[in-house]
Amino acid sequence: MKDIVVLGSTGSIGANTLDVVRRHPHRLRIVGLGTGRNLALLQAQVREFTPTFVAIRDTASARALHLEFPGLTVFAGESAAVDLVINSPADVVVAATSGMAGLRAVFATAEQGVRLALANKEALVAAGPLLLKAVRRHGGELVPVDSEHSAIWQALRGWHASDVKRLILTASGGPFLGKPRSLLAAQTAGDALQHPTWRMGRKISVDSATLMNKGLEIIEAHHLFGLPYEHIEVLVHPESIVHSIVEYVDGSQLAQCSRPDMRIPIQLALSYPERWPAEYVLNNWQGTTWSFLPPDLETFRCLGLAIAAGRTGGSHPIVLNASNELAVDAFLAGRVPFLAIEAIVEEALSANLPSPPQTVLDVLEVDTWARNQAQAIIRQKAVY
Ligand code: MG
Repeated sequence: MKDIVVLGSTGSIGANTLDVVRRHPHRLRIVGLGTGRNLALLQAQVREFTPTFVAIRDTASARALHLEFPGLTVFAGESAAVDLVINSPADVVVAATSGMAGLRAVFATAEQGVRLALANKEALVAAGPLLLKAVRRHGGELVPVDSEHSAIWQALRGWHASDVKRLILTASGGPFLGKPRSLLAAQTAGDALQHPTWRMGRKISVDSATLMNKGLEIIEAHHLFGLPYEHIEVLVHPESIVHSIVEYVDGSQLAQCSRPDMRIPIQLALSYPERWPAEYVLNNWQGTTWSFLPPDLETFRCLGLAIAAGRTGGSHPIVLNASNELAVDAFLAGRVPFLAIEAIVEEALSANLPSPPQTVLDVLEVDTWARNQAQAIIRQKAVY
């Protein structure tokens, strides 16, 4: 029996994680759940999975949980997720919060020396070298949950990293694939949230529409697998069946394929080194066609901005990530148009002199600076 903590249990990855747990009641047990403020869903999850510990940022919600479940230990406030990780004995912590809000809890998990099933990409983008160092120092392990990185991680099993020629991250291309820039300007939040192949949270859906998601994933892959940026490529694959490819020096390419269903990489991050049955996965390719296209860097400028920020390194990936988070929020709120996202990120980056963060506090300091910077840029561009 493996004890599981899920950070971000009420989000899309969190709900998928709980579905995997539901299907393996004799192998997996929920000991802790954490969320920001979705009280109603957390209450339903506590009733079904009976954890010992929960974390919720909102303190009024924490009191409501206390009243309904007297035996439950409830952590509240800004450090709730960190308190949850430190206090609940887990074999695996699934970090499924989106955005930098999850950074401290991800580091707290690394410091527990347990398995970190990482779905939060911002932690690796903003603090990759520091996070990997923390995982190593405390004897834990990091298993990627992001579908592309899970694919690469699987294709690397059993072979020498020194024999890898390049990594090819596949991208669905998002809902605006093939649209010219002239049409992108008028796209609304509603349009951006209509992803053709994946059902995901709002932030990552917009990141997928701008291709920023793929840019963040390139930075993630660079840190996770230790390859230079010039050996990491993007291939647009609208069917989202080939989840990524590792090419070795002998010309062999190993890919991982499946229907686009996040429960597959989530389950592997929980079951590893075993593989468990998943009867809901029906891979049937008869009559299907798989296509591959180059990414359109001129139309989707966020991808190029992300690659450049990764190559520059230092504080630039932190600024990229923070300014993008705020720009996406402003877009979802209808305050700025779709193409303002890339403009906000570009302006924030150009105002930053890249300096390498030495500690998590340095990372958070740059993050705060970038958020202030992005807010000021958004105020200039906002329609209200
Ligand atoms: Mg992905």
